[in-house]
Amino acid sequence: MARPPFTGSFTQQPPIPEEGIAAALEVMRSGRLHRYNIADGEEPEVALLEKEYAAWQGARYCLAVASGGQAMQIALRASGVKPGDKVLTNAFTLAPVPGAIAAVGAEPVLVEITGDLVIDLDDLAAKATASGARHLLLSNMRGHLADMDRLMQVAKANNLTVIEDCAHTMGATWNGRKSGNFGLAGCFSAQTYKHMNAGEGGLLTSDDAEFMARATMMSGSYMLYHRHGAGPAPEVFADIRLETPNMSARMDNLRAAILRPQLATLDAAIAGWNQRYDRIARALAQHPAIRLPNRPPQEFYVGSSIQFLIPGITPEKAQTFLAANAVQGVELKWFGSVEPLAFTSAHQSWRYVPPQDLPQTDATLSGLFDMRLPLTFSFDDCDLIAGHILDAASALHEVAA
Ligand SMILES: *Cc1c(COP(=O)(O)O)cnc(C)c1O
Repeated sequence: MARPPFTGSFTQQPPIPEEGIAAALEVMRSGRLHRYNIADGEEPEVALLEKEYAAWQGARYCLAVASGGQAMQIALRASGVKPGDKVLTNAFTLAPVPGAIAAVGAEPVLVEITGDLVIDLDDLAAKATASGARHLLLSNMRGHLADMDRLMQVAKANNLTVIEDCAHTMGATWNGRKSGNFGLAGCFSAQTYKHMNAGEGGLLTSDDAEFMARATMMSGSYMLYHRHGAGPAPEVFADIRLETPNMSARMDNLRAAILRPQLATLDAAIAGWNQRYDRIARALAQHPAIRLPNRPPQEFYVGSSIQFLIPGITPEKAQTFLAANAVQGVELKWFGSVEPLAFTSAHQSWRYVPPQDLPQTDATLSGLFDMRLPLTFSFDDCDLIAGHILDAASALHEVAA
């Protein structure tokens, strides 16, 4: 019997919790939307969010900013990247990552990824030496974590400062340690399609007081840096407050009000994503043409999206496969296209970056498909979607035979 098409939406997130809506209304009624606009004795929403996120993340400091991209730009600048410097990053990532490097006037040096979608640590070591780069902006793209113990050894051996882009790994851990807590800083996004939804927003975490004082000044704190929820002590700012430019990238109280109840239930949301991920992954893994990236036992992931490979698929067949899924209402992204589409991007399409030869990455991406798993999907939805993907994969096989 033919399966019914899937009629749900791949971009529909759950509503903002009622508590968040009430808190947002309260902020609007107060008129005090700016984070430093505080009534006597009031602890503003942004400072509370910083305090709560630092505690949840297990980081000493947390700074709320306007976006994940701003968190990365500020982190790069506050960690000492200068115009003209080379900054290592994964070749497989999204455009805001090379964009953050370009924003500070630096030059991205793209590192190969493995067939399991993580940064290739041998290529990282080789390119660290060859480029003389002192910084790695590590993108934990689509939530896949490299061997973080080995990565930190490679970083140490090559004198690299590591900044982690955790837009897809908020809540993920390696060997029990939270993603974002390995290098100097972790950068998180609160944009609608990430793990907490404020429309836009970012969080920057670190244990380093001077780094965080510079980042705070850059975020646009003026001389109000003491009004932060999880910032360094005022004495750390003594010189930094006068030496650091203000780049206006603050978060406002409205966004923080929306985020705080989501943080309180984030662990439950993560469990929900992983139930959906594991269900679909189990089904897809049975197909002989489909390969799922290996997820090592040290990795605890957050399955807010799923990736799978059809190794050796031609571009024509990839289009056939996408179309067969689309007809059934299943929205897949294919990372093999050199033409960037919607939210996808390819290193060849970043023309402001010097072209780089990345055969291993290109070979992996040519067979890589990706699908969002919003929490609005029921388990039945997941089974139906997996069924359609399997049908489309089998149809490809038959055509090939
Ligand atoms: C979304 C995203 C970012 C940036 O987040 P914004 O809040 O949209 O600026 C950074 N890295 C990756 C991998 C992302 O997907």
